[in-house]
Amino acid sequence: MGEPFLVGLPQGDDLLAAVTRSFDERSIRKGAFSVIGLLKKAVLGCFDPETHEYTNREFVGHLEIASCSGNISEKDGEVFAHCHLVLANKEFQCIGGHLMPGSVIFVAELYGTPVPGPVPVRLFDESRGLYLWPAASPERQS
Ligand code: ZN
Repeated sequence: MGEPFLVGLPQGDDLLAAVTRSFDERSIRKGAFSVIGLLKKAVLGCFDPETHEYTNREFVGHLEIASCSGNISEKDGEVFAHCHLVLANKEFQCIGGHLMPGSVIFVAELYGTPVPGPVPVRLFDESRGLYLWPAASPERQS
């Protein structure tokens, strides 16, 4: 299953891709993580439950990763990272949202941990327009 790990992610890498790769190369397909550090650019998304679409916004400048957490599961047979973050600018104001591709690392320190048990698989949920884990039925919860 693997061990919890701490790793610095490469400067200039895409944050979402680097997090995903960190789990994939350790063969961890079910996990949780947090990241602190600094981004040079961020792309954040906000999902609209009416239109079933993300609105994305790009932020440029040095942005402290005040909080970044997420989970690792499987989608289409691949390791998939779902990640939300809060960023603070030089005026100490915060923005936040769903991490999208295109966010560029200046510094990123990842704490990742595997989670035991069956790997959740994301499947498309027509009513909500998202790839989601199947909801646990009461008899399956431990
Ligand atoms: Zn999200």
